[in-house]
Amino acid sequence: MVKREMHYSEFVDVYEGLFATTKRLEKEAIIAEFLKKLAREGEPDWIYLLRGKVTPDYDDRILGISEKLAMKSIGKTFGIKDEEIAKRYRKIGDIGELAEEFAEKKRQTSLFSKKLSVDKVFSNLRKVMGIEGKGAVSGKIALISELLGQASGKEAKYIVRTLVGQLRVGVADATVRDAIATALFPDEKYEMAKKIEIAYDMANDFAVIFDAASKGKKELDKIDIVLGRPMNVMLPVKVTEIGEAFRICGKPAAIEHKYDGFRVVINKVGNDVKLFTRRLENVTNQFPDVVATVRKFIKVKDVILDSEVVGYDPKTKRQKPFEAISQRIKRKYDIEKLERELPVEVNVFDVIYYNGESLMQKPFHERRKLLEKIIPHEKWKIRPSMQIVTDKEEVALKFYNEALKSGEEGIMIKKLDAPYQQGRRVGYIVKMKPAANDLDLVITGAEYGSGKRGGLLTSYIVACRDGDKYLEVGKVSSGLKELEQEGGTTYEEMTALLKPLIVSEKGKVVKVKPRIIVSVTYQNIQGSPSYDSGYAMRFPRITAYRPDYHLKDIATLGDIKVEVEKAKKGMSHLG
Ligand code: ATP
Repeated sequence: MVKREMHYSEFVDVYEGLFATTKRLEKEAIIAEFLKKLAREGEPDWIYLLRGKVTPDYDDRILGISEKLAMKSIGKTFGIKDEEIAKRYRKIGDIGELAEEFAEKKRQTSLFSKKLSVDKVFSNLRKVMGIEGKGAVSGKIALISELLGQASGKEAKYIVRTLVGQLRVGVADATVRDAIATALFPDEKYEMAKKIEIAYDMANDFAVIFDAASKGKKELDKIDIVLGRPMNVMLPVKVTEIGEAFRICGKPAAIEHKYDGFRVVINKVGNDVKLFTRRLENVTNQFPDVVATVRKFIKVKDVILDSEVVGYDPKTKRQKPFEAISQRIKRKYDIEKLERELPVEVNVFDVIYYNGESLMQKPFHERRKLLEKIIPHEKWKIRPSMQIVTDKEEVALKFYNEALKSGEEGIMIKKLDAPYQQGRRVGYIVKMKPAANDLDLVITGAEYGSGKRGGLLTSYIVACRDGDKYLEVGKVSSGLKELEQEGGTTYEEMTALLKPLIVSEKGKVVKVKPRIIVSVTYQNIQGSPSYDSGYAMRFPRITAYRPDYHLKDIATLGDIKVEVEKAKKGMSHLG
């Protein structure tokens, strides 16, 4: 039998179906139906296309070409002048629809009707991502043109949207995971969805999961973390009092300082050390000092460690808040200077892999014992996180107060016999810290300042998450001045971060792709018709830029409703 070539139009049908509904279960059913077909193709990598990608999530290369390049490619394909394209774009306002319009017109006048294959689309998109250096722009345009020239209107729309990194069909990771379970294990879908989630957290690669699931349960069981690759981390739930912490984690429990730094997963494979954030970004080059410390003080061959990297003032030796060291995560130059000005200490709190063996299923107390054996106490360089084990609330509270006094954020309470389970799960670790009215939010719009700050984006529309949507909760224009004075993020830096993300501009106001995450404190939140979330923060102020956070980490509409309810009951001071 000759293998039928899958047409890209089959993906387009799925995209259109997904676009037409906001209901998660309907989206899941559409994807599941499609995955049954895709499983027969023997091309698991194509599953990335469902979320507008051509690589696994742990791969930090992204497609995201600029809209300008997309317009140039459209112009070249259809023989249209730049000015005309720009004019039409201003009218339509959506680059995907712009491509659709021109491709559709061309189709009507040409006899060409060879169907575009998924294989062709996928391989050209991968090539576009891979080209670098001299001639890259014209190379990219040629590859894109080749696709657009063969595409129907709708196909062109989704090709261009994939290229600019805005597929806009609203598919969350969890929907794809559940759809794999529904498609391949219809009789045990709930149990298998859980298994797939755990396997996904380890592999961070939908193709690997989909491929294993297509072959059967046993293959899924074989999936494990991979040395040298970024991984999802274990995250805590929040409690407001110590009794609740013990109820969740059991007695006795381990209690540790909650350091105000940023999460780094350290991978050591022989002499090769790699550092990843919880967003799966590789930050090895930004922290040569941490790499050197790990090489010098950790004598084991292969290991994966979970840690909090904390900055301190080299003169006063006082800890610095997160925002100060966030400079080091972003910076790609002057690294040596920053290394001197903002030295860091690594607080190691877990060991996940050790000399050829994954320790994820081992109880925490065993992992901790090993950790204490392999991590030396080297002040200002590296040390095991400060920990006590107790079953007494008074002892735990005393430790909490001491942690706060020494400038830490609070404490983490950890269940002694828990495995290392990735994701935010109830039951294994909890955090406790003093109440603060603060939320992590994403910037979706901004406004240019005037006078001295003309040309700089100085106030920001921030939004929370509701499923796959981002809903505005306020406009923030204070905070950055203070951060700037403390040596943190400046207006110039924020403007430079936001400018490439601009999707539309009207007078002084711009809309941006939701990428940049900030922590915002506020006095209270009220119901408000001014923003599409239905809520507004009063007196908001930015306290930190969070390059280490992922969009899935930001506050949800549900979190905001909880805050509003708490405030109504006069309990906001309880956190
Ligand atoms: P929020 O500001 O919303 O409370 P957060 O920055 O505290 O968020 P969470 O995910 O709620 O983030 O808290 C977990 C984070 O705490 C971890 O990702 C890690 O970076 C940090 N942390 C500090 N000390 C520890 C520790 N001893 N054990 C585990 N995590 C720790």
